[in-house]
Amino acid sequence: MNLIDGKQISATIKDEIANEVRRIIDQGGKVPHLAAILVGEDPASETYVSSKARACKQVGFDSSTYRFPADVTEEELLEAVAFINNDPEVDGLIVQLPLPEHIDNQKVIQHIVPEKDVDGFHPVNVGRMTIGLPSYVSATPYGIMELMMRSRIETKGKHCVILGRSNIVGKPMSLLMARNEEPGNATVTVCHSKTKNLKEMAASADILIVAIGQPEFVTADMVKEGAVVIDVGIHRVPSDKTKSGFRLIGDVRFDEVSRKASHITPVPGGVGPMTIVSLLMNTLKASRKEIYG
Ligand code: NDP
Repeated sequence: MNLIDGKQISATIKDEIANEVRRIIDQGGKVPHLAAILVGEDPASETYVSSKARACKQVGFDSSTYRFPADVTEEELLEAVAFINNDPEVDGLIVQLPLPEHIDNQKVIQHIVPEKDVDGFHPVNVGRMTIGLPSYVSATPYGIMELMMRSRIETKGKHCVILGRSNIVGKPMSLLMARNEEPGNATVTVCHSKTKNLKEMAASADILIVAIGQPEFVTADMVKEGAVVIDVGIHRVPSDKTKSGFRLIGDVRFDEVSRKASHITPVPGGVGPMTIVSLLMNTLKASRKEIYG
């Protein structure tokens, strides 16, 4: 079994980006700049936004955070988005989700100009990805494709089974794996809660991508000998073996599945570390005007 080491791969990519930023500075260019909008004081959102800002600092990007109280009006938020859209200093803009209930998430996302939508959630970017045009691909699917490419996983002609069809993971993964380029060119099956023969489907996969949000759902009997297994799930469970009193597990029973898989991502240290790096890669693309010219 080969471990797909997301921690190491993401560190390598960060080094590559940092080198690129040094090159940009040497040539007198503009340093990439990521802006984030954060509404309210949800601790998880605070953590995500500060880790994104820290990652920007590590690679030499500029970053800024626009904070709003939980009772901000939708109109005020839309004005802030419009302001950042028009700020030539800012290359990429993310809005940390979820937003308070009185604000329409989709309306806010759709207010971001597609050129700065480095989260890849704007329908224009989703649509462009769907028809194979250059686009910002959202962080988790982008990170998984990068993991597979850098781990030299052969995808062409393989049967890829995806468990989960969410808009942020399963659905874009299915489009990327089926696209007519590498990595891609796989024959894709998508399973969800209404799938009748999910176990048999999973067991027929050469590449199994699991994003269903069910702790250790995938067991060894659901995996073909030699399959590549990508575990997107992440769950915090109590543990008496760690100082913190909890540990992280995925949607896959790692101990038994890793004995059958040819390649597998661990949790933690697999897909997770790639997500922030994907955002950095998109911000670099935005600053180079790679997607929209
Ligand atoms: P969602 O809850 O949005 O989607 C889950 C999908 O799995 C749905 O399509 C659902 O089917 C399907 N599903 C749920 N239970 C079953 C079941 N028992 N049998 C078959 N299908 C089932 O999850 P996300 O895609 O947002 O996330 C999936 C997991 O990945 C979560 O654990 C999440 O925490 C993790 N995650 C990790 C990230 C990372 O960076 N590592 C980033 C994003 C997510 P249906 O559509 O029919 O309801």
